[in-house]
Amino acid sequence: MQFDVTILGSNAAIPAYNRHPTSQVLNYNGNLFLIDCGEGTQFRMNEFGIKRGNLNNIFISHLHGDHYFGLVALLTSFNLNRREHPLFIYGPLGLEEIVQVHFKHSLTKLSYKIHFMPVFIDEPKVIYEDHALTVETIILTHRLPTTGFLFKEKKNLRKIIADKITEHNIPHHKINDIKRGGDFITETGNEISNTGLTLDPASPRSYAYCSDTVYIESFIEQIKGVSTIYHEATFIHEHEGRATETFHTTTKQAATVALLANAGKLLIGHFSARYEDLNLLLNESKEVFPNTLLAEEGKTFAIGND
Ligand SMILES: [Zn+2]
Ligand SMILES: [Zn+2]
Repeated sequence: MQFDVTILGSNAAIPAYNRHPTSQVLNYNGNLFLIDCGEGTQFRMNEFGIKRGNLNNIFISHLHGDHYFGLVALLTSFNLNRREHPLFIYGPLGLEEIVQVHFKHSLTKLSYKIHFMPVFIDEPKVIYEDHALTVETIILTHRLPTTGFLFKEKKNLRKIIADKITEHNIPHHKINDIKRGGDFITETGNEISNTGLTLDPASPRSYAYCSDTVYIESFIEQIKGVSTIYHEATFIHEHEGRATETFHTTTKQAATVALLANAGKLLIGHFSARYEDLNLLLNESKEVFPNTLLAEEGKTFAIGND
């Protein structure tokens, strides 16, 4: 099952060195989830071959413009393309008003329905669920109400051993039952236990998106053992004072979060426009958490299993 994230924008508020403000697309088996939508998101989608039509859910972390200024443009393109299927947008209270005022004054009547799902910062909550995934909010500490998002694969079904199907003549309609842990009784009345028919499933994968925040440890328990974590690392560690002042994080702080959370892999991003060479940030983070990668635009990272 495909589960990966493509980086569309990796910079902090001011675009620099051909880096764009924050946006990412998570792909779960062809179902696309957009996480933040900074200016330029649509252009990056075109450039990296992201199919907008497969996008039904958009998650906005907070209302600083570098995380949503591309949204009205994207919603307008959907309208020009005569989109009909509904769109769900999860984000802070106020986002609906911001979007609607654009459409009100441009006399736009959308061809599709937008469902705004307000997100609050009182406690982590499951805000999305389908047959395969859940999305929980992660409560962050920034200058505005801000949440991250934890995408969690649901527990997988057990893997049936193909040879056992022919060996015991298992009918097709029994297979799902066995995958869920059921035993099987053969035509001659023999009971075959589930452990003799199946293998353990792969452990569920997860992706924690930790948007703008000052260094905090309060959500670490929630994301413990996460396969891949994205954490902002706006500054090098020397600029820790500036990070704290602006409610942002340094490389070493982001890496410490990944370490404490026992994450499989760390992607760092939201780079300040003051840094041209990102290797400095990468190397600092690796000193604390060796499996760090730069969330570079156009790159796709598999979640877990590598
Ligand atoms: Zn930002
Ligand atoms: Zn911000």
